[in-house]
Amino acid sequence: MGKYYVTTAIPYASKKPHIGNTHDALLTDAVARYRKLRGDDVYFLTGADEHGIKVQREAEKAGVTPQQYVDGVTAEMRSIWDLCMVGYDDFIRTTEERHKSIVKKMFKKLYDQGDIYKGAYEGWYCVPDEAFYTDSQVVKTETGNVCPDCGRPVERLKEETYFFRLSAYADRLAAHIEAHPEFIQPESRRNEIVNGYIKPGLQDFSVSRTTFTWGIPVEFDPEHVMYVWVDALSNYITALGYDPDGNHGGLFQKYWPCDVHFIGKDVLRFHTLYWPGMLMALGVPLPRSVYAHPWWMMGGGRLSKTSGNVLYASDLVEKYGIDCVRYYCLREMPVSRDGNITPELLVSRCNTDLANDLGNLASRSITMAEKYFQGEVFPAEKPENEVLTLCENSKERYAVAMDTLSLQQALTEAMGPVARANRFIDETAPWILAKEPEKAEALKHVLYTLLETLRCASVTLYPVMPRAMGKLRLQLGLPGVPVWEEAPPQGFSVRRGDNLFPRITEEL
Ligand SMILES: [Zn+2]
Repeated sequence: MGKYYVTTAIPYASKKPHIGNTHDALLTDAVARYRKLRGDDVYFLTGADEHGIKVQREAEKAGVTPQQYVDGVTAEMRSIWDLCMVGYDDFIRTTEERHKSIVKKMFKKLYDQGDIYKGAYEGWYCVPDEAFYTDSQVVKTETGNVCPDCGRPVERLKEETYFFRLSAYADRLAAHIEAHPEFIQPESRRNEIVNGYIKPGLQDFSVSRTTFTWGIPVEFDPEHVMYVWVDALSNYITALGYDPDGNHGGLFQKYWPCDVHFIGKDVLRFHTLYWPGMLMALGVPLPRSVYAHPWWMMGGGRLSKTSGNVLYASDLVEKYGIDCVRYYCLREMPVSRDGNITPELLVSRCNTDLANDLGNLASRSITMAEKYFQGEVFPAEKPENEVLTLCENSKERYAVAMDTLSLQQALTEAMGPVARANRFIDETAPWILAKEPEKAEALKHVLYTLLETLRCASVTLYPVMPRAMGKLRLQLGLPGVPVWEEAPPQGFSVRRGDNLFPRITEEL
């Protein structure tokens, strides 16, 4: 196996991240843990985007400096990541000197070679989103034009700005996307980029602002601060020690190009057009792929801090536990259409899959092993049956799904043998076998089958539920952290522990 570099989009530090902003981190963490399980040398980067007008305004409202403001929000973000067991290797903040100094050099280099030039921009500006829109992009209403993204009023604005010459890279970008079907995933997103942006023709985009000051200054033109694209997207290489002069750090040499940038669908075009355009201009190889997940909706509506229609990972984890939250988010997020998250849905899914299926299988199997064999289940020969065959086949199908980043499918595969093993208990009725001493070997085969099913699940479900699967493995007498090639043991020495997935019974 080889090196594997994964990143989350860096959430904007204007407000505490909600469950939707946390999804990148959960998804990236599960994939990083899976790649480690497969033996890869994994590097996992996350961080915070800390500049821009919204941070400046929130800080003013709070009566603190922008730096003090983002110090607070980013600390909160990191505590949520920790609570969610997001096991990153590095957390980069765009206000850090190691980031700013490199970004300044990048900007200067791009300017010196003519990829960044000065011009003027006129358009419709959405203040809260810091985004410009053209006449054809804004939505016309009776009260005036509104933002196509957030629906709030836009204002006509003209400002002097630096542009990045994306148009110069249009042909190369189109050819790259054409030649590398894996570059934009899933496929529906690729079509969106090709039909929505490549075919109509790529425009140069604005990379500086004079309307606010909380940003990385353009050193040769102090009226300007850098806008989010050069500032934030470059975190993926500055964190590794990229240097525009070529004196790269060891991490950059080892891990770049990135294997997958995990992002939300809202920042797709910036990651698949703007970012690779800048990398081409810098002469840096492009990331292998960008995977855009859809959004979480809540009861059909968008999650939004302003509307109060919002859920925080920290509250959910406190109420339902980390395993439940990670399992729900990764099991229920569809590939292209948006997913739905509410406390009711989360409780129902976790009670069905985790408490009833997996939790019950574990507690029944381990209880019976202790009752009938004092926890020592060592059959004379390893049994062969339909359930064990399903375990093996499901593991292979699970790997195919994980390799193609289809986590929903992978979790369905991982849970298949668990449901089958629960039926196997009813079919074989071990409590009847236990009454006849000459059936002891047959009873051992049944219990071995159940425990082996749990062992397999503890491997495949480990990337999604590392806490609960670690505990399950200790109850099964196995090392807490699995390896992918772990062979089925001769037998099991089990010991009952805490109930892994208590049924959630609270009134909702
Ligand atoms: Zn807007």
